[in-house]
Amino acid sequence: MIQLSHITKSFRSGRGQVKAIADVTLSVDTGRFAAIEGVSGSGKSTLLHCIGGLETPDRGEVFCFGTSIYRLTAAKLSLFQRRHLGFIFQRGNLLSYLTVAENIGLPLTLNGIAGTARAKRIEALLADIDLKPAAMALPHELSGGEIQRVSVARAIAHHPKLLLADEPTASLDTATGQRVVQLMRDLGKDYGCTIIMATHDRDIADTADPVIGLKDGQVVTDS
Ligand code: ADP
Ligand code: MG
Repeated sequence: MIQLSHITKSFRSGRGQVKAIADVTLSVDTGRFAAIEGVSGSGKSTLLHCIGGLETPDRGEVFCFGTSIYRLTAAKLSLFQRRHLGFIFQRGNLLSYLTVAENIGLPLTLNGIAGTARAKRIEALLADIDLKPAAMALPHELSGGEIQRVSVARAIAHHPKLLLADEPTASLDTATGQRVVQLMRDLGKDYGCTIIMATHDRDIADTADPVIGLKDGQVVTDS
């Protein structure tokens, strides 16, 4: 289970102090596909970053499968992230100088999975995302939807326990976006991931359960 307890995060900016997340308490059961839904600026990215240990909250605690991640040492937190976390960004963030297969293999290399095991896993993922012929392509040769499918494969390659997706469909048309979400759902199920996806798109959010509504950094609905 993922549990957030009284998470608060403010930023100091040119506009003064901005409270991005204000006292958020919530939980997502293991194996669920949850959505955090809210308009731009509601705090979705900040909340995801706090859940994944990418941004330290000012107050509160995050438990990932029983581990209070902000009580870990920096070294243990990065080990936890490398092993158990997958992250999908709005525009993929693939490494432009690596091929599709190399991008997918990156988290495997980081986790010490090499040789035949690595090659087999990459091949299976390329089949999962229906992009076998693109194994040697570079990211700039792919469409937006293809980039996101590779991003899903890369995020899930090391079989993380938690998959965080920050508006993974925001740069895609509706049909392509739905396909990417379905792929995330299917692969998440196959590999036993808990998924938390941020989105401003209510139709996309409604395919998830639970849907956690966020407004001005606070939870407004939790279904
Ligand atoms: P969303 O992802 O829902 O669009 P964000 O979490 O990105 O929302 O932002 C929530 C609020 O926090 C916004 O007002 C935003 O301007 C502010 N914010 C986010 N990150 C930073 C930062 N690094 N520095 C200053 N303000 C930030
Ligand atoms: Mg955002």
